Amino acid sequence: MAQEPFLPFSKPSIGREEVEEAVRTLESDWLTTGPRAARFEEDFKSYIGARHALALNSATAALHAALVAAGVGPGDEVITTPMTFVATANVIEMVGARAVFADVRPDTLNLSPEEAARRVTGRTRAILPVHFAGLPCDMAALGRLARRRGLKIIEDAAHAVGAEAAGAKVGAGSYIACFSFHPNKNMTTAEGGMLVTSSREAARAVRLFRFHGVDKEAWKRQGPTGGPHFRMASLGLKYNLTDLQAALGIHQLKKLDGFNRRRRELADLYRDLLSDVDEVELPAFGGAGVRHAWHLFVVRFRTRKISLSRDEIMDRLRAKGIGTGLHYTAVHLHRYYKRKYGFRRGMFPAAEDASDRLASLPLFPRMTDADVERVVGALKEVVIRR
Ligand SMILES: *Cc1c(COP(=O)(O)O)cnc(C)c1O
Repeated sequence: MAQEPFLPFSKPSIGREEVEEAVRTLESDWLTTGPRAARFEEDFKSYIGARHALALNSATAALHAALVAAGVGPGDEVITTPMTFVATANVIEMVGARAVFADVRPDTLNLSPEEAARRVTGRTRAILPVHFAGLPCDMAALGRLARRRGLKIIEDAAHAVGAEAAGAKVGAGSYIACFSFHPNKNMTTAEGGMLVTSSREAARAVRLFRFHGVDKEAWKRQGPTGGPHFRMASLGLKYNLTDLQAALGIHQLKKLDGFNRRRRELADLYRDLLSDVDEVELPAFGGAGVRHAWHLFVVRFRTRKISLSRDEIMDRLRAKGIGTGLHYTAVHLHRYYKRKYGFRRGMFPAAEDASDRLASLPLFPRMTDADVERVVGALKEVVIRR
């Protein structure tokens, strides 16, 4: 029997429009940050319904800039989730603050507002929640905690572009929310990120920080009304998004709602086909008024019942031509964090249990219904033991 082609857990969807815009950009006189990045920011701002949108070269850069703009630094603590990509916690460490983990809710794998409340100290400056897999966090509860304790909320919305809660897009009213356009994410610019904010001061600080602390970017200085001089008012880095990347983003954004609609259909199909498979726990789908972005379809295996480890299940699926992802190994179990803070197993039981048993099944807009059936068929062969 001929083996079907390998099905990875994620694939980008780049069309003619993106290719042609990229070619027009290459043939124009301006490649780096310029008119296309400015247009992408305008389009993104209207899509989200945000006050300010700033394009950066990754979500990691956006989160770093967010902490700097919020004034977080040495001696401060920021509460975050262990169920995330390491970048979320790394940026906290990078500004000299302390990453303080609080456990997740066992159902949604989002930061638990109750656990977050237990970790607040006199040094806490901010909460950094992640909308895990694209399911919005309980922002009402986190917002109440933040107001009560005078904390800022910086949202890692890398998974949640297009997600909605309480009638608004994730990021719409946020102090700061950061999105990722890595190729695995719901839309891509190859690499890239966007920071949205309701704060004019934060927007100003991020604008400076992403470009050497210089108040006028080169494309404005080099035009007919510009001049060669610039002022450097504060320290900054080189975190700007190029026009070549924005050329992709402009068209990906137009297609985003369609991409997310297809992701939702595929998630619904997985749910139907897996509903009678006791060996596999389904992810949370979100309640009324919530629109999941379905960045990832993360299942948890009942490994005791299956008597295979998660890694063995992933290996056997790969041998059957099915790729899976590991989102995530709980961050506090990585060597840097264990060594620095003495974290051990047992400290964040919900995140650890998920971390040991989860895997992301293939989910991307170009998948067919038959692909989902193929994944579920292979999964049943692996996990249903007789
Ligand atoms: C992808 C991701 C990031 C980092 O995004 P980049 O654009 O690759 O820097 C941060 N946090 C989470 C939760 C992510 O999934």
